[in-house]
Amino acid sequence: MKFLDEYRDAETARRYARALNRITTRPWTIMEVCGGQTHAIVKFGVDDLLPPYVTLIHGPGCPVCVTSVEFLDAAIEIASRRDVIFCSFGDMLRVPGTSRDLLAVKAGGGDVRTVYSPLDAIRVALENPAKEVVFFAVGFETTAPANAMAVVQAKAQGIPNFTVLVSHVTVPAAIRALMESPDVRVDGFLAAGHVCTVMGYWEYEPLAEKYRIPIVVTGFEPVDILHGILDCVRELEAGEHAVGNAYARAVTREGNKPAQAVINKVFELTDRAWRGIGVIPQSGYRLRPEYAAFDAEQRFPEVQAIETRESPLCISGLVLQGIKRPVDCPAFGKQCTPQTPLGATMVSSEGACAAYYRYGRLGK
Ligand code: SF4
Repeated sequence: MKFLDEYRDAETARRYARALNRITTRPWTIMEVCGGQTHAIVKFGVDDLLPPYVTLIHGPGCPVCVTSVEFLDAAIEIASRRDVIFCSFGDMLRVPGTSRDLLAVKAGGGDVRTVYSPLDAIRVALENPAKEVVFFAVGFETTAPANAMAVVQAKAQGIPNFTVLVSHVTVPAAIRALMESPDVRVDGFLAAGHVCTVMGYWEYEPLAEKYRIPIVVTGFEPVDILHGILDCVRELEAGEHAVGNAYARAVTREGNKPAQAVINKVFELTDRAWRGIGVIPQSGYRLRPEYAAFDAEQRFPEVQAIETRESPLCISGLVLQGIKRPVDCPAFGKQCTPQTPLGATMVSSEGACAAYYRYGRLGK
């Protein structure tokens, strides 16, 4: 299959691994930001091909995992109302809030619906004018353009019963927070290719310069990931710290300008709490004041006073910062499994704990 087989080719992967072995002279720690890359690394055993000097650590790039408990509890509270139809991507339904998840709300009679696009939620709103329809807008910059377009459409069509609960987060702010943390030691980053198809990589250049750290835009297949690691190690060995692009078949420096324009039209930056990590300044999007009529937080102001609590066993905040691995968590595979998740990183299809469990990384 074009654009798949050649990026899963074993001989090409081995060639990259041999090149890495040839050029690596010192220990380097590289963080893949994106949970999709984490899953590919664990699934295909990419880390088994690396020289012993190169260590991969997993970053916070799983949007489901970093959505704060406060927002999840707000979503659960709103979804529990009898006058609400709550629309969400399926990944969010099993993420535990303080005491339950959205699936439990649905099981209890709440009208919680899985949608594949925010435009599906608009259709639900048009079909159910007597109900409040709320769409749970989560994700990194990748999903932001479609969610912004839905708000633009709702405003253009004057749909009064449609709002969005916005919990978008952004990658550059996460990299900045990691580099400022005294507990995190990273020599280079693999940036998430799909985010960069939207945003380009111009935003990363000041970060690479400020922290003197290479950042390489990287795709999601095993050969893509090895290509990104090789480019990153090449820079490290040469003492360089530029932004590289190992995903040129999909990403340009400038990115998708119309998509960026609709994001900027609808959203503005705000401080955002990341699950298990805390508040990162200017790390999320919220609706601009001119779209306040479509803001679920303003439509349902009572949800802002909810008290939240994490499982005391869960160390997912440390996992999301690459400080601990899933197998370092005492609850991993015991109290916490995909069937009985205590934290979001065990639920999401991009979560590091779920990847380790699913692909049998039980003690590595
Ligand atoms: S294994 Fe479960 S409890 Fe432990 S960090 Fe992962 S999600 Fe949290």
